Amino acid sequence: MVSILPHLRGFSRAELTDLFAGLGEPRFRADQLFRGLHGRRLMSFEEMTDLSKVLRERLNETAATATLRVESKYISEDGTRRFLMRTADGNPVETVFIPTENRDTICFSSQSGCPLKCDFCLTAKLGLLRNLTAGEIVEQITIVLNDVYGVGGETPHGTNLVAMGEGEPFLNFDNLIKALEIMSDEHGLHIVPGRVTVSTAGVVPKIHEFAKLERRPNLAISLSAPEDRLRDKLMPINKRWPIDELLSAAKVFERTLKRGERFTFEYVLLGGVNDTDEHAEQLAALLRRHDLRKVKINLIPHNPAEQLDYRPSTPERVRRFKQVLESLGVDAYIRTPRGRDIFAACGQLAAKQEPNLVQIAGL
Ligand code: SF4
Repeated sequence: MVSILPHLRGFSRAELTDLFAGLGEPRFRADQLFRGLHGRRLMSFEEMTDLSKVLRERLNETAATATLRVESKYISEDGTRRFLMRTADGNPVETVFIPTENRDTICFSSQSGCPLKCDFCLTAKLGLLRNLTAGEIVEQITIVLNDVYGVGGETPHGTNLVAMGEGEPFLNFDNLIKALEIMSDEHGLHIVPGRVTVSTAGVVPKIHEFAKLERRPNLAISLSAPEDRLRDKLMPINKRWPIDELLSAAKVFERTLKRGERFTFEYVLLGGVNDTDEHAEQLAALLRRHDLRKVKINLIPHNPAEQLDYRPSTPERVRRFKQVLESLGVDAYIRTPRGRDIFAACGQLAAKQEPNLVQIAGL
């Protein structure tokens, strides 16, 4: 039977305090539970032996600490790990751990599947299965941290988070923001907003809402085309919120940035489709027209897949595209694809189970 118990990993410390007050338990017990769930990253009430046995049993009957099941885990030649998990009602959730020398990044999902139909993305083929709850969002990251560093183990480089897995984060706005708030708590995972980047395909009203948040993560906007006709095809969300509307919202966001802060446009480079010198020139002109100055462009070579009609741009083309942008005063960076061999790279998350890949048993 599917668990419908409240998922306590999605409760803030204040909410746990209220819940415990209702159970006649003092506040410090709620703090202990919060630390157990997030600071010590424990996955069951039984492990929280600082709570009385009676209380643990009572909680066990009325609430859940974990609802996801890890179905498989794949490790790439480059150290990237892809986790395919299932919600209690059987929907896929994918999370990717990307190690680099000085920092580790976890790319997490905000939805199971995705309703947007970006033409170059495998996740789009799943359609939207459902929004993830705040508890499920926090849990997937906790599972990955425990897998990499051991239960409750120190994270040597700190952790960066990117909401770039399955789903459009701004279509699950409230749960996403709640999960990020919980994860930023210093008594828990303590992943502060400055270490988090939320990537949107361009849900304009939510960019405005996001701009008003007091403690807010970094923003990335996936653009991938410099003019409406092409973007309509590549990212159909453009028909709803065309480029000018999107970039006007980006400008509003830009005005809220503090000194030294910047935000990102992502541009997936598709061979022969959006990667010519003219496209780069159009892109630079577009940013100028909207007076966007605090931006950088991340160039993402497309990650090919059998079901997708696109091929990646050649490395020379990618370099040239960057050069053209830079010659026009736009900062551009080439993102190295990670975990392509295990279907963990950008746009490749589609709950793929691949018997030939290295699958680590025991999870
Ligand atoms: S690129 Fe992102 S927003 Fe577009 S379909 Fe894929 S997961 Fe959804």
